Amino acid sequence: MKSNSEGISRKQFIATAGAFAIAAALPGYGQSQKEVSSIELPPLPYPEDALDPVISAKTISFHYGKHHKGYVDNLNRLIAGTEFAGMPLEKIVSETVGKADKTSIFNNAAQVWNHNFYWKSLNTKGGGEPSGKIKDMIEKSFGSFDAFKKEFASTVISQFGSGWGWLVKDGDKLKIVKTGNADSPTTVGLKPLLMIDVWEHAYYLDYQNRRADYVNAIIEKLLDWDFASKNI
Ligand code: MN
Repeated sequence: MKSNSEGISRKQFIATAGAFAIAAALPGYGQSQKEVSSIELPPLPYPEDALDPVISAKTISFHYGKHHKGYVDNLNRLIAGTEFAGMPLEKIVSETVGKADKTSIFNNAAQVWNHNFYWKSLNTKGGGEPSGKIKDMIEKSFGSFDAFKKEFASTVISQFGSGWGWLVKDGDKLKIVKTGNADSPTTVGLKPLLMIDVWEHAYYLDYQNRRADYVNAIIEKLLDWDFASKNI
């Protein structure tokens, strides 16, 4: 019986190599726990001063660099070592909405998602009138682009307290909705096309209490209709 020990060790080697191959194929293998669970702060789609003078570089440096980043950091702290670690952001939002014991995770996750969407709703080359399919849908849903602008402005401006104003798609119609705090129309099955942040941190440095001036300036000069079209 030569090489019994060699046979065993070969078997062990094969078993070990097999286990290693399985482990190496698992998502996240070789990454630290922190890397697995991290939700990232996406880069701004433009430089901080790109939206000036409608939104100043100072506002964006605080809004993006402190508020948005703060939600990302809070969320990563809250989900570390939980069932939500490593979960896509959209799923964290949908799994925690309406759950009383998950309010902090929902608030921070939804605020990260909302801000990701807000920066993309704005563009230095934005404003003006949409064209193509979205123009047709706006005319069908609101009567005219001017009527849409009026209704969008008044709805967004009238959000009581902190929140968001949205243009959403509901089936084959477009609608305007507002949500408070971190709430998002995605949690009730509506598809966002564009949105405006009306938390005071979004405008107070530039407009103080003049929320209407901020909202109207965004509608006239910054809404990114190319982004809205892609979301249809
Ligand atoms: Mn904000």
